[in-house]
Amino acid sequence: MSAETAAPAFAEHDHDHDACQDEALGRAEAICAERSVRLTDIRKRVLELVWRGHKPQGAYDILDALRKERDGAAPPTVYRALEFLLGLGLIHRIESLNAFVGCTDPETPHRAQFLICNSCGTTAELNDPRIDAAIGERAAAAGFSVNRRTIEVEGTCPHCRQADPQ
Ligand SMILES: [Zn+2]
Ligand SMILES: [Zn+2]
Ligand SMILES: [Zn+2]
Repeated sequence: MSAETAAPAFAEHDHDHDACQDEALGRAEAICAERSVRLTDIRKRVLELVWRGHKPQGAYDILDALRKERDGAAPPTVYRALEFLLGLGLIHRIESLNAFVGCTDPETPHRAQFLICNSCGTTAELNDPRIDAAIGERAAAAGFSVNRRTIEVEGTCPHCRQADPQ
Protein backbone atom coordinates (compact mmCIF):
# COMPACT_ATOMS: atom_id res chain seq x y z
CA MET A 1 0.00 0.00 0.00
CA SER A 2 1.43 3.35 -0.99
CA ALA A 3 1.57 6.17 1.50
CA GLU A 4 0.70 8.52 -1.35
CA THR A 5 -2.73 7.02 -1.87
CA ALA A 6 -3.71 5.63 1.52
CA ALA A 7 -6.31 7.98 2.95
CA PRO A 8 -7.08 7.56 6.63
CA ALA A 9 -10.48 5.99 7.04
CA PHE A 10 -12.70 7.64 9.61
CA ALA A 11 -15.33 5.17 10.73
CA GLU A 12 -18.89 6.26 9.96
CA HIS A 13 -20.87 6.87 13.13
CA ASP A 14 -23.36 4.10 12.31
CA HIS A 15 -21.12 1.52 10.64
CA ASP A 16 -21.23 -2.18 11.45
CA HIS A 17 -18.73 -2.09 14.27
CA ASP A 18 -19.14 -5.78 15.14
CA ALA A 19 -17.28 -6.47 11.92
CA CYS A 20 -14.38 -4.21 13.02
CA GLN A 21 -14.25 -5.94 16.39
CA ASP A 22 -14.34 -9.43 14.85
CA GLU A 23 -11.60 -8.51 12.43
CA ALA A 24 -9.41 -7.07 15.21
CA LEU A 25 -9.86 -10.17 17.35
CA GLY A 26 -9.13 -12.48 14.43
CA ARG A 27 -5.91 -10.60 13.70
CA ALA A 28 -4.94 -10.67 17.37
CA GLU A 29 -5.46 -14.43 17.53
CA ALA A 30 -3.34 -14.95 14.42
CA ILE A 31 -0.53 -12.72 15.74
CA CYS A 32 -0.53 -14.46 19.14
CA ALA A 33 -0.42 -17.89 17.48
CA GLU A 34 2.42 -16.79 15.23
CA ARG A 35 4.48 -15.53 18.18
CA SER A 36 3.53 -18.42 20.46
CA VAL A 37 2.01 -16.21 23.13
CA ARG A 38 -1.37 -16.79 24.72
CA LEU A 39 -4.32 -14.54 24.15
CA THR A 40 -5.84 -15.43 27.52
CA ASP A 41 -9.50 -14.70 28.26
CA ILE A 42 -8.65 -11.54 30.12
CA ARG A 43 -6.29 -10.23 27.42
CA LYS A 44 -8.89 -10.96 24.79
CA ARG A 45 -11.64 -9.26 26.79
CA VAL A 46 -9.49 -6.17 27.38
CA LEU A 47 -8.74 -6.02 23.65
CA GLU A 48 -12.48 -6.26 22.92
CA LEU A 49 -13.12 -3.42 25.34
CA VAL A 50 -10.42 -1.24 23.75
CA TRP A 51 -12.14 -2.06 20.46
CA ARG A 52 -15.60 -1.06 21.78
CA GLY A 53 -15.41 1.67 19.22
CA HIS A 54 -12.91 3.87 17.43
CA LYS A 55 -12.69 6.18 20.39
CA PRO A 56 -9.72 5.77 22.73
CA GLN A 57 -10.63 4.04 26.01
CA GLY A 58 -9.12 4.91 29.36
CA ALA A 59 -7.81 2.13 31.60
CA TYR A 60 -10.51 2.97 34.13
CA ASP A 61 -13.29 2.77 31.53
CA ILE A 62 -12.03 -0.71 30.76
CA LEU A 63 -11.78 -1.60 34.43
CA ASP A 64 -15.35 -0.39 35.06
CA ALA A 65 -16.69 -2.50 32.22
CA LEU A 66 -14.73 -5.52 33.41
CA ARG A 67 -15.95 -5.15 37.00
CA LYS A 68 -19.53 -5.46 35.78
CA GLU A 69 -18.64 -8.85 34.31
CA ARG A 70 -16.28 -10.37 36.82
CA ASP A 71 -15.72 -9.90 40.51
CA GLY A 72 -12.34 -8.85 41.69
CA ALA A 73 -11.10 -7.29 38.45
CA ALA A 74 -8.30 -5.07 39.75
CA PRO A 75 -6.26 -2.30 38.10
CA PRO A 76 -3.07 -4.43 37.83
CA THR A 77 -5.01 -7.04 35.86
CA VAL A 78 -6.09 -4.42 33.37
CA TYR A 79 -2.66 -2.76 33.20
CA ARG A 80 -0.92 -6.08 32.63
CA ALA A 81 -3.31 -6.95 29.82
CA LEU A 82 -2.85 -3.49 28.27
CA GLU A 83 0.96 -3.83 28.46
CA PHE A 84 0.73 -7.20 26.75
CA LEU A 85 -1.44 -5.80 23.96
CA LEU A 86 0.83 -2.74 23.57
CA GLY A 87 3.87 -4.99 23.38
CA LEU A 88 2.35 -6.90 20.47
CA GLY A 89 1.32 -3.69 18.73
CA LEU A 90 -2.35 -4.64 18.93
CA ILE A 91 -3.21 -1.34 20.59
CA HIS A 92 -1.66 2.12 20.83
CA ARG A 93 -1.49 4.53 23.73
CA ILE A 94 -2.85 8.00 23.06
CA GLU A 95 -0.84 10.11 25.49
CA SER A 96 -2.88 13.30 25.20
CA LEU A 97 -6.00 11.43 26.31
CA ASN A 98 -4.29 8.90 28.56
CA ALA A 99 -6.23 6.24 26.71
CA PHE A 100 -5.83 3.29 24.37
CA VAL A 101 -7.05 2.62 20.86
CA GLY A 102 -6.96 -0.53 18.75
CA CYS A 103 -4.32 -0.66 16.01
CA THR A 104 -5.74 -1.00 12.53
CA ASP A 105 -2.62 -2.58 11.05
CA PRO A 106 -0.86 -4.65 13.71
CA GLU A 107 0.85 -6.93 11.19
CA THR A 108 3.06 -4.10 9.92
CA PRO A 109 5.63 -2.57 12.27
CA HIS A 110 5.01 1.18 12.34
CA ARG A 111 5.11 4.35 14.31
CA ALA A 112 1.67 5.78 14.08
CA GLN A 113 0.27 9.26 13.77
CA PHE A 114 -3.26 9.86 14.97
CA LEU A 115 -6.08 12.15 13.91
CA ILE A 116 -8.40 12.60 16.89
CA CYS A 117 -11.89 14.08 16.55
CA ASN A 118 -12.68 16.50 19.39
CA SER A 119 -16.43 16.14 18.78
CA CYS A 120 -17.03 12.39 18.74
CA GLY A 121 -13.68 11.08 19.89
CA THR A 122 -13.21 8.91 16.80
CA THR A 123 -9.54 8.40 16.14
CA ALA A 124 -7.97 7.39 12.84
CA GLU A 125 -4.47 6.08 12.45
CA LEU A 126 -2.06 7.34 9.82
CA ASN A 127 0.97 5.23 9.20
CA ASP A 128 2.88 7.55 6.98
CA PRO A 129 6.57 6.69 6.90
CA ARG A 130 7.32 10.10 5.34
CA ILE A 131 6.16 11.90 8.48
CA ASP A 132 8.19 9.58 10.62
CA ALA A 133 11.27 9.96 8.42
CA ALA A 134 10.95 13.77 8.43
CA ILE A 135 10.86 13.85 12.23
CA GLY A 136 13.80 11.46 12.40
CA GLU A 137 15.85 13.60 10.01
CA ARG A 138 15.07 16.91 11.66
CA ALA A 139 15.70 15.52 15.13
CA ALA A 140 19.01 14.01 14.03
CA ALA A 141 20.01 17.33 12.42
CA ALA A 142 19.34 19.01 15.75
CA GLY A 143 21.42 16.39 17.53
CA PHE A 144 18.29 15.30 19.33
CA SER A 145 17.72 11.73 20.41
CA VAL A 146 14.05 10.75 20.09
CA ASN A 147 12.42 8.48 22.65
CA ARG A 148 8.85 8.67 21.53
CA ARG A 149 7.47 10.07 18.33
CA THR A 150 3.78 9.48 18.36
CA ILE A 151 1.99 12.37 16.70
CA GLU A 152 -1.48 13.22 17.95
CA VAL A 153 -3.44 15.71 15.86
CA GLU A 154 -6.80 17.03 17.10
CA GLY A 155 -9.64 18.32 14.97
CA THR A 156 -13.03 17.42 13.54
CA CYS A 157 -13.69 14.20 11.64
CA PRO A 158 -15.51 14.25 8.27
CA HIS A 159 -18.72 12.85 9.77
CA CYS A 160 -18.91 15.49 12.51
CA ARG A 161 -18.09 18.20 9.95
CA GLN A 162 -20.99 16.99 7.82
CA ALA A 163 -23.36 16.95 10.80
CA ASP A 164 -22.37 20.47 11.84
CA PRO A 165 -20.75 22.30 8.96
CA GLN A 166 -18.76 25.33 9.99
ZN1 LIG B 1 -15.83 0.05 13.74
ZN1 LIG C 1 -1.11 0.98 14.53
ZN1 LIG D 1 -16.15 13.16 14.84
